[in-house]
Amino acid sequence: MIPFVYRCTECGKEYKRDEVKYLCPDCENNYVPGNPLRGVLSIEFDYEELSRAFDKRIPCWDLFLPIESKYLPNFPVGNTPLHKAGILGKHFGLQNLWIKNDGLNPSGSLKDRASYLVVAEASRLNETEIVAASTGNAASSLSSVCAAAGKKAIIYVPASAPKAKMLQNILCGAKVIPVKGTYDDAFKLSLEHTKEKGGLNRNTAYHPFTIEGKKTVGLEIFTQNGFKVPDAILVPVGDGVIISGVYKAFYDLMKAGLSDKLPKIICAQAENSSAIHAYIETGEYENLKSSNTVADSISVCAPSNAHMARKAVLESNGFSITVNDAEIMEGQKILAEKSGVFAEPSASVTVAALQKIKELELFSPDEQIILLVTGHGLKDIETPLKNITLPEAIEVK
Ligand SMILES: [Zn+2]
Repeated sequence: MIPFVYRCTECGKEYKRDEVKYLCPDCENNYVPGNPLRGVLSIEFDYEELSRAFDKRIPCWDLFLPIESKYLPNFPVGNTPLHKAGILGKHFGLQNLWIKNDGLNPSGSLKDRASYLVVAEASRLNETEIVAASTGNAASSLSSVCAAAGKKAIIYVPASAPKAKMLQNILCGAKVIPVKGTYDDAFKLSLEHTKEKGGLNRNTAYHPFTIEGKKTVGLEIFTQNGFKVPDAILVPVGDGVIISGVYKAFYDLMKAGLSDKLPKIICAQAENSSAIHAYIETGEYENLKSSNTVADSISVCAPSNAHMARKAVLESNGFSITVNDAEIMEGQKILAEKSGVFAEPSASVTVAALQKIKELELFSPDEQIILLVTGHGLKDIETPLKNITLPEAIEVK
């Protein structure tokens, strides 16, 4: 393992490995429940040593993980396909459009990457219970990885979460606690749980390994793209952790001397859940009073990693765009029709965003653009079924 320290993304203070667990103790004091987290920790490796240890001819990406390989669960996560989407690209006037299909992870979402690393950390710390709040996907990913690693997942989830995601948790043996409230309420309850009853908390951004786990999607894109940084990556954004993970991947690659630029990181949000978009546009952060969108996985009033998400977009010369629910559902249909990839509504936000990007001519036709598909369509069939009439059965003669 390459040595690392935790660095507070807010005050810059550094901490050794077991000196802290979740947030910067100084900045955490300023945290007010129901607001973005304060003092989120980022992992800074000894990049000189990383650069020395990494051999491009036989790349070992575990070197980019802040844990010894022996703790990693014996459960294949990641290595999802990156492929060109010619017909979809043509539809949007783009010659070099690609899809990174992370819906093909074991539980059907990118969040498996974060759960995988937090479960590894739980093994190192001899923790048997892992607690999380989730709109659904983080929960089902944690339930899935915990089942594979022989650990217990304890899940706080809004009662309104899609049934398929609830079902995944229950079948994987998790303890599911539905909350009559929002994701933000579930988040608060799960923090109270670990403070009072123990266990390791996997809440997104709260545990720094969630960002490190999600960064592996960026490392994979780089590898699958022949060690080249694409021009842009479109990311569906809810609490801002996936987009921070994508940024962290390319930050680490630069610091390790493997690349010399960041891709433009594009934030795509649902119009009714766009706290980070507003923050990027205005520089002023404000919680939303309510959040209501068909894209349940990215529905959040107080995104936990708002500050780092904004930094990812600004430092990479990216931009942010919002789309409404009708556009999201249309995006889901276009993605399926023109590429064969069935994504859940939240993962279709980027396709809806492409329509606007096309109208505004924000990309030149030959730029290499990657759509990050974060969750499988079978995660939520109730929402698209509202707009679709299944064909009548014919008689057999
Ligand atoms: Zn701090």
